[in-house]
Amino acid sequence: MDLITHVQQKMVEILPEILNSYEGEIGDVDLSAMEQQVRQMSHAVGNEVLKRWLEMQDGKYPADEQVCPHCTAQARYVRRRSGLAITLLGRVYYRRSYYCCAVCGQGHYPLDHRLKIKPGEMSDGVVKCAALVGIESGFETSRDRLARLSLLELSPNSIRKASQRMGASVMQQEAALLAHSQSDEAQHAHRREPEKPRRLYGSIDGFMVLLDDGWHEMKAGAWWTTHTTRQGELKADNIHYYVDYLPATEFADLVWATGFEHHADQAYELVFVADGATWIWRIVEQHYPQAIQIVDWYHASAYLSAIAEAAFKDKQAAQRWLDQQTDALWHGRLRQVFRACRSLAERAPDAVHTALIYFAHNRHRMRYDKFRHKGLQIGSGTMESGCKQLGLGRLKIAGAQWSTDGARLVAKARAAYLSGQWDEINTSAEALPLIA
Ligand SMILES: [Zn+2]
Repeated sequence: MDLITHVQQKMVEILPEILNSYEGEIGDVDLSAMEQQVRQMSHAVGNEVLKRWLEMQDGKYPADEQVCPHCTAQARYVRRRSGLAITLLGRVYYRRSYYCCAVCGQGHYPLDHRLKIKPGEMSDGVVKCAALVGIESGFETSRDRLARLSLLELSPNSIRKASQRMGASVMQQEAALLAHSQSDEAQHAHRREPEKPRRLYGSIDGFMVLLDDGWHEMKAGAWWTTHTTRQGELKADNIHYYVDYLPATEFADLVWATGFEHHADQAYELVFVADGATWIWRIVEQHYPQAIQIVDWYHASAYLSAIAEAAFKDKQAAQRWLDQQTDALWHGRLRQVFRACRSLAERAPDAVHTALIYFAHNRHRMRYDKFRHKGLQIGSGTMESGCKQLGLGRLKIAGAQWSTDGARLVAKARAAYLSGQWDEINTSAEALPLIA
């Protein structure tokens, strides 16, 4: 049994005695007032436990000397000094030994060093908690939500910092992944691994964000697998989103790096479902020439709706035409679809022209009969809902204005959360070591 379980048992054991001694003083407080008070108390007791635990870690009798982490000379004990750790149980003030080095003149706290505490900074737990609220709503609103949910009193600025820190940690992980994915050795090792994905999906898309200097396009991507539900529907699972604010040529590296993590290059079957944007298919062809390419069914069929709407005054006639052509597209009768579109060129020149250009570019990506026979997903709903959640949910909040870096970091944090990676992110990676 661990220490805290022991402590908890002991506390529970002595609790009746303490409470009984107040028997005459039990007032007529209602449950909701009481639960708030007890909650505050647990918070305060937890704070006290952390403080005592920290001070016990430091030891009763500090050694006269310790190795200086700055220069490795011997540093001398000076005295205990008070420190502050911002934890899930509030601000913990504790005392710990302070050493000063005569050689380099710098001081240090061995306890902070050992426990990776950066005095006055938020713990990893606080960063994750604050960021979780901060990536969902404005930082002002977040302050109130956080206080209500967790009793943590943080300024909007601290919540902003926490959210950006999560994003920065994701960025750090991605940088490591980028380097790894480009090493010959790692690529070699990949090929030898026996486990290869059977069928992996990928998608890429862009969405608009309002930054300080106007609207900009962010780029996002996703990797996922699918399973078939009992109703026979294909559902996405293990979805991994990534996002960045980069030109397409640089975003391509992130596509490769995240794909490498999912063994996309080794998949027996790799399927890209996306809309028709040229930069997207260029990236796919550059890194995954073997992939099956599919333009999203809803994007493609929307071109038919646009023609129907522009060409027919009569709503029923429009619907009839649309039903016929959608059915033909669904069954892979592309020639019939093209012919039908062309026959309306005089009545709806713009819509037909746009559609025919799109179809001509994406012809091989519209073999929906073939794709369906293989049991492939033909809609990029997974990616679109990702973009919506990455963009609309937070970055497009009314009145929210972002700097490029701010938007980029919060989007990355959101992507990690949506991908279920929140707990794996190490927010303290950059904090240490102290050794220069
Ligand atoms: Zn030193």
